[in-house]
Amino acid sequence: MKYIGAHVSAAGGVENAVLRAHELEATAFALFTKNQRQWRAADLSAKTINAFREACEKYHFSGAQILPHDSYLINLGHPVAEALEKSRLAFLDEMQRCEQLGLTLLNFHPGSHLQQIPEQQCLKLIAESINMTLDQTHGVTAVIENTAGQGSNLGFRFEHLAEIIHHVEDKSRVGVCIDTCHAFAAGYELRSVEDCEATFREFDKVVGFEYLRGMHLNDAKSEFGSRVDRHHSLGEGNIGTTVFSWLMKDPRFDGIPLILETVNPDIWKDEIAWLKAQQNAADGV
Ligand SMILES: [Zn+2]
Ligand SMILES: [Zn+2]
Repeated sequence: MKYIGAHVSAAGGVENAVLRAHELEATAFALFTKNQRQWRAADLSAKTINAFREACEKYHFSGAQILPHDSYLINLGHPVAEALEKSRLAFLDEMQRCEQLGLTLLNFHPGSHLQQIPEQQCLKLIAESINMTLDQTHGVTAVIENTAGQGSNLGFRFEHLAEIIHHVEDKSRVGVCIDTCHAFAAGYELRSVEDCEATFREFDKVVGFEYLRGMHLNDAKSEFGSRVDRHHSLGEGNIGTTVFSWLMKDPRFDGIPLILETVNPDIWKDEIAWLKAQQNAADGV
């Protein structure tokens, strides 16, 4: 079973995100549980928590179909102690919000070395941040997203994800989310079926499909290998539709949220319908 949806707005309260996903005829969704550009947010009220849980039940979304994303400000590999501490506290808060909402996954970008520490040291800090957070929470898996490798962001090589996982103590609560735009921009080919097979063979070898907890389905405005993170609507960018059609037919992508973060929310409903149709479409179309 494929779970397909988009990163919907939580404006007006997280419970509204559920309704928005339902209106898109989605079977998955992503959301921010707080304003993603601010450090602080008011605690979730009991009323909001109940409304969210009730909406999920009403519209048939289980924890496995929802992939919350953390704030863009958080850097779990920050080279400066005070800033690292601030990020770790904010990440713990994000995890606790997920616990309260009954969510089981939290998607985040690994972190950036800011040209101040070596890659290896930054990856270790990130793993340490994950360990500290998992120690203080229950039932939520930390889902590391691959990045385009813009600036000093780590996570653009599958080896980075594997290295972080290697240092995480509780392997049952760590996973990864692969963003197709980020992978392509980082130099992983996805334009033909052969490319897709080779890229995900490499993913399986380096990280392992057992850690795949979600996908972000985005075409790329940015060029192959450019390390620039610019999403596009499916089929309108430099990747094309082949990879999306291909992965809808591959059972290794079953049972995890497949989330659009494409640039035009007005066509999300059509994109979701198109993805659903690909499951049954003939090969090569
Ligand atoms: Zn992301
Ligand atoms: Zn993404």
